[in-house]
Amino acid sequence: MPHDRDDTGIDTGRAWKLLIGGEWVDPAAGTYPVIDPNDGTVVGHAPEATAAQAEDAARAAREALPRWRALSPEERGRRLARLADVIERMAPSWLRLVQAETGSVTAIAKGLQVGGPMIERFRYYSKPINVDEDVAPMPADKGALGPAGLIAATVKRQPVGVVACITPYNMPLVNVAGKVAPALAAGNTVVIKPAPQDPLGVLLLGEALAEAGLGDGVVNIVAGSGPEAPAALVASTDVNMVSFTGSTAVGARIYADGAATMKRVLMELGGKGALVMTEDADVNAACMGIATTWGLHSGQICTAPTRVICHRSILDQTVETLKTFAGFMKVGDGRAPGTIVGPVITETHRDRVESFISSGAGAGATTVCGGQRPDLPGYFVEPALLVDVTPDMEVAREEAFGPVVVVLAHDGDDEAVALANDSSYGLFSYVYAGDAKRAYEIGCRLESGNVALNTVQPHMYAPFGGFKMSGIGRDRGKWGIEAYTEIQAINWLS
Ligand code: NAD
Repeated sequence: MPHDRDDTGIDTGRAWKLLIGGEWVDPAAGTYPVIDPNDGTVVGHAPEATAAQAEDAARAAREALPRWRALSPEERGRRLARLADVIERMAPSWLRLVQAETGSVTAIAKGLQVGGPMIERFRYYSKPINVDEDVAPMPADKGALGPAGLIAATVKRQPVGVVACITPYNMPLVNVAGKVAPALAAGNTVVIKPAPQDPLGVLLLGEALAEAGLGDGVVNIVAGSGPEAPAALVASTDVNMVSFTGSTAVGARIYADGAATMKRVLMELGGKGALVMTEDADVNAACMGIATTWGLHSGQICTAPTRVICHRSILDQTVETLKTFAGFMKVGDGRAPGTIVGPVITETHRDRVESFISSGAGAGATTVCGGQRPDLPGYFVEPALLVDVTPDMEVAREEAFGPVVVVLAHDGDDEAVALANDSSYGLFSYVYAGDAKRAYEIGCRLESGNVALNTVQPHMYAPFGGFKMSGIGRDRGKWGIEAYTEIQAINWLS
């Protein structure tokens, strides 16, 4: 049973509000508790927006659009740079709250939740990126539409309009920054709808937006525990685009619901990353890569390589090495020194991850280690490793979004590629092979929007997105600007 906390310095009684049209507005549907997954205590009471308030936010963004898009890219960039400075100054004071609501271990909370990437995304898009381009002139004969001549054209990128940014719980601020920064840089205005589980840090971001002069309808924030407010954004005729990151099931729902108003969509959805190991792979390096993401944020990472597709000749060595690494992953309260694996986000999600692991055991897989529920007050899962897994099992096909890795065996590159591609997902996959040429050749055959060779480290400005059920569209780098713009061709007689 959750109880109020009094020993953390977090103001649990704070009256959180919605940011609509530059005003902090009381939520019309009351509040709901935000829970610290480390111990079930209440972190705060989040505002519950109604569908009507979500529509108000969309209208405010629509009204702010002409003045924001009229600014030059350089001026928008200056304002984003100012925002990055304000966030950098404020963010350390957000740490305790964001750590409590997300359940992150201290290193993740400092380094990933309120630290580098969030600020970096605003800084990166503060430097204008020109994605306009010219088209080769077209010689035209005299005809019904005009005299002979050369027709020239240039391709401009125009803002899409109002963008609803609907985000997941795992990295609340980074996910929001990854959408809002390129959307604003491209001349759009936005409505943010953070995940229900941990929206408070995103509401703090609203304070930084207001201080940097971006709160006057250019950026609006509505929070809520249910689907009503985000569904109202998807249906709104004031919203031109939905930029969504979250589960494939909700993404499919938004895609269908947005069709009636022809929403542009950017969909960043679930993943079940494959990691192919050839017989000459560096087993230690591959296992280190797997272990890095296995327990990272308790496995609540969409890009994690959770399906290890290992050559049979190195299977035993790989499993033993992974088991050894698992022994070092201390599970516990994210704030306790030495903790590597904190809680998963909610009790319901913990139960789901546990039943996912037992479905593997029920289908004939062997749990080599982990999967137990530690004797702790919060929602913890010990990192689990499953072998004797076949491709038809749920554990090999579905995303756990928890610290669960399965191992499948292969006898050669063709079989490895077939196993890796036998998935409805295609977000991020990995190849560990003895030489770069072979790793590259295997990588090119994988049905995956992103592939990393002999590393789990992504390039932060390469295009990011998924094949198949992992999504639609790409962002990051210049692809972020492309994602939030419409293509416009201007033609003339030269
Ligand atoms: P989720 O799909 O449950 O929720 C995401 C958001 O959708 C929330 O803000 C929620 O309020 C909103 N939502 C729910 N119903 C809606 C509706 N009917 N209409 C509009 N919006 C609605 O996802 P989650 O549990 O918060 O996050 C976990 C998922 O996110 C995993 O599947 C993970 O793989 C995925 N994810 C993907 C990426 C990526 O970049 N591809 C990154 C992070 C997380």
